[in-house]
Amino acid sequence: MNAERRIVRDGAVLIEDKKIVAVEKTDKVRGHKADTVLNAKNMLVMPGLVDTHVHLAQALLRGCADDVALVDWLKNRVWVLQGNFTREDGEISAKLCMAEMIRTGTTSFIECMIHTRYGFDGIAKAVQEAGMRAALSKIIMDSTGYADNPDIMHPGMVEESSACLKETEAMLSKWHNKGEERIHVWYGLRSLGAVSTELFREVVQRARSHRTRMTMHLGEVIDDVRYVKEKNYPNLTSFARDMGLLGPDMVFAHGVHFNEADLKALAETKSNVSHCPASNMKLASGFARVPDMLRVGVPVSLGCDGGPSNNTYDMIREMRLAALIHKPVANDPTVVSAENVLEMATIGGATALGLQDRIGSLESGKIADLILIDMKDVGLTPICNPVSNLVYAASGKCVDTVIVDGRLLMKRKRLMTLNDAEIMKRANERLDALLVRAGVTIEPKWPVS
Ligand SMILES: [Zn+2]
Repeated sequence: MNAERRIVRDGAVLIEDKKIVAVEKTDKVRGHKADTVLNAKNMLVMPGLVDTHVHLAQALLRGCADDVALVDWLKNRVWVLQGNFTREDGEISAKLCMAEMIRTGTTSFIECMIHTRYGFDGIAKAVQEAGMRAALSKIIMDSTGYADNPDIMHPGMVEESSACLKETEAMLSKWHNKGEERIHVWYGLRSLGAVSTELFREVVQRARSHRTRMTMHLGEVIDDVRYVKEKNYPNLTSFARDMGLLGPDMVFAHGVHFNEADLKALAETKSNVSHCPASNMKLASGFARVPDMLRVGVPVSLGCDGGPSNNTYDMIREMRLAALIHKPVANDPTVVSAENVLEMATIGGATALGLQDRIGSLESGKIADLILIDMKDVGLTPICNPVSNLVYAASGKCVDTVIVDGRLLMKRKRLMTLNDAEIMKRANERLDALLVRAGVTIEPKWPVS
């Protein structure tokens, strides 16, 4: 992954401090005396994957809301559980999520909405400890609706606008560009129906004056389109444009219900879309118009969304879905190629983070965020085109080694910064306690003996 998309056979990557200084044939760098040498024989060396739509708090809710309709999914499961979260739940869920992300090759991510009750500070500390690169978005809201459904939010999820803005300011001064510049604090606008027009405009002005960025769910549900039409806007982006939301500093998650005029507006303003294929299928949201987005030049990246909507945070499996699902919709197997989705998962994600000049590709001068994928596997043999094997045949389980900022976060499948045995134990305990507190019972549909 460089400007020419060059595949180097028998290649080597040379890292000095945090930077990549050479990507060459092994022979060319062999003379360099390195302190640490990682043998990458039979490995694919790639830029780390970037997940641009993550709910850290939902890792703890994996499998808690399967095969149910969205409003039921939100009102009776996800919001009830998240509305009963404590800060300890927030921290352990973030650690569980990051352990999975690192194991499956994700090096950077955008967390889209941190509620005060999840404990922003504890999550930021956990990210710093884990060593990942992240945009952490403080939730911003001032109403209790969701799209055109008024007043349906669980009381535990409701926050007041001045408190949201105050906490964001505090977290910006404490964490923005901290953790050796790996942590960024963003504004996480909740969704249509939960944010008033005044608050949208206020946040846009604040985000730009702080030189930070914004993310929000938009067009995940058709109700979003009804919401803007009731307000006399012809489509989603005409509303977004009026609020000042369009621009390269915005990441819209899902975007299933964008129309042709929306796609033109997104392309013109270089507004980012995080495509979440697994979530869109699991919740029957629909198919985002990704082939059209690529045709008109919308910046597209990929997101795994959350534990109840995916139910994994494995970007390699997400790439496979993104490459497959658009072909039958278009009745054309040439739309959205393996190469297109690898770009979305790397340089596309880096662009959504605003870090395209620093990460997202393996090039001299870029930050050393990279992963090694073990291709010596019966399921990945033979290798005619490594991009094809990676996107169509691999999974996150094939990731062997993960490096962020020149530092090993996983070496030969062993996590270096997080203790996954301890995290799994605590996550099971926290979920049991959470279910009791929330008064929710979740059992297999089949009889258990
Ligand atoms: Zn989401």
